[in-house]
Amino acid sequence: MKHEGVLIVLSGFSGAGKGTIVKRLMSQYDNYALSISMTTRAPREGELDGREYFFSTKEDFEKRIEENGLIEYACYCGNYYGTPKDYVQKMLKEGKDVILEIELQGAMKVKEQFPQALLLFVMPPSAEILKERLTGRGTETAEVIESRLARASEESEGIEQYDYIVVNDVLDECVERVHRIIDCAHDAADRNRAFIADMRRQLQKFSQKDTE
Ligand code: 5GP
Repeated sequence: MKHEGVLIVLSGFSGAGKGTIVKRLMSQYDNYALSISMTTRAPREGELDGREYFFSTKEDFEKRIEENGLIEYACYCGNYYGTPKDYVQKMLKEGKDVILEIELQGAMKVKEQFPQALLLFVMPPSAEILKERLTGRGTETAEVIESRLARASEESEGIEQYDYIVVNDVLDECVERVHRIIDCAHDAADRNRAFIADMRRQLQKFSQKDTE
């Protein structure tokens, strides 16, 4: 049975570890393709155009919206973020499981357009641990940490709209769990409509022969 690629949306609170999970999935397994988003935010130190994001101007981004070149886009903290359509469609056709690491609003738009997308939300084991992780990074000021925790509280309102939550306690176990969920998703009847329809056609041919 030929599996079609699964479109995977991975969201989670800032500090939940979704970036690390994606990196692990990409390095440990060869069935994944990571979509690189387009954004108008400025590159952070160490970020490369075409690797972390396609960094663009507001004008170029808006042109891309007009050309219908994005699957979804959202405005997040004053900047546009969006998922280019071409790459995702190409990879899905090639049978790759395509990962979109995007926030909640975008995730909901993807679900509308691709009802068969698999939506995963990465959670920390507790709010206390999330706070410790954000503080432990040592890269953010107390103010930024506070605003990210406030944002997490807002985002927590939408989690029930995801298909699965994955708790990131022990990283290796979490990565394995995410991979297993995706693996099982391939076998969902709803994602194998072409295979089922083909089977039905073949069976109908048999039963026609039987009645001849
Ligand atoms: P950051 O600026 O920290 O890289 O990303 C900010 C937020 O934007 C994160 O929650 C990230 O998942 C989300 N994001 C990144 N790319 C996209 C995208 O293409 N679409 C949407 N809707 N959100 C995105």
